[in-house]
Amino acid sequence: MLSEFELISRYFTRPPVPGSRTALGVGDDCALLTPAPGMQLAVSTDMLVEGRHFFPHADPYALGHKCLAVNLSDLAAMGAQPIAFTLAFSLPEAREDWLEPFARGLLKLADEHGCELVGGDTTKGPLNISITVFGEIPFTQALRRDAAKDGDDIWVSGTLGDARLALAAYRHELSLATEAHHVAAQRMHQPTPRVELGLALRGIAHAAIDVSDGLAGDLGHILERSHVGARLDADALPPGSILKQQTQELRRRFTLSGGDDYELCFTAPQSRREQVLAAAEKTGTEVTRVGVIESMPGLRLVDAGGEPLDLALTSFDHFTS
Ligand code: ADP
Ligand code: MG
Repeated sequence: MLSEFELISRYFTRPPVPGSRTALGVGDDCALLTPAPGMQLAVSTDMLVEGRHFFPHADPYALGHKCLAVNLSDLAAMGAQPIAFTLAFSLPEAREDWLEPFARGLLKLADEHGCELVGGDTTKGPLNISITVFGEIPFTQALRRDAAKDGDDIWVSGTLGDARLALAAYRHELSLATEAHHVAAQRMHQPTPRVELGLALRGIAHAAIDVSDGLAGDLGHILERSHVGARLDADALPPGSILKQQTQELRRRFTLSGGDDYELCFTAPQSRREQVLAAAEKTGTEVTRVGVIESMPGLRLVDAGGEPLDLALTSFDHFTS
């Protein structure tokens, strides 16, 4: 069995990357980061708990990817460039056949985004993984939740609902063909953080949030913080490729309140439509216009014909769900 320090040095210590923002990485009491002049640090933490956020015995490679992906998604939603992260976790035993693929999945995604592992904490205990990410963003350019304006278009990236559909199939609430379940499960286990899109939307979008607990609820956070309301076309929401084949009832429910999507929901002035589409094109990300910000508070759902829809929606909450 590996000791704590062998484990850290074998799997989580890497040579410094020249030219990076890390002046000092793993191995001292603190890491030292040097943000570029004129930049603010964007900091976010997300924790994943076995049995709560992922199934016991989850595939360690996918888990390594996911626990960093959900954190990078928060940076994306702020328009921040990832620079570094820390990893604090407890695990029941230091098994190399778990640690090796976990570190591989984690560090592959980290390298894709130039995000360096600069420190952490490692203890024995039930499997619980907490990552803190650090990003940088020019002063005044953050895509804050309180910045939506009356008349803004509401957009979402990618597609919604396939992760929730996979969960429903795991729970035997419905059945999917093997291949379809596999495709949907991929969305659940290995989400793609929309970092490049978030960066490309700097100076174009007003407000943004990443969709982790269901679009209706997450958009609700923007509305609340910005003191505005919205009209949302439930039938314009882009369903995932597997959800697309399901009933309208399920499509509406899972695109609106599915959760685990890690897409961006953002608002931008109508005068910026061309620029939003150019940002999407440049980053190879689909975007769909799904509604409009209005001054009257509250979220008003309509169908494709503009008729009001009365759907009872619940967004995910750890203490009430
Ligand atoms: P301390 O006693 O100051 O908490 P530790 O002995 O826990 O330090 O950790 C030693 C070094 O290894 C520190 O630089 C810490 O940031 C780093 N470290 C510990 N666990 C991890 C991990 N899981 N991933 C990356 N670095 C880690
Ligand atoms: Mg420690």
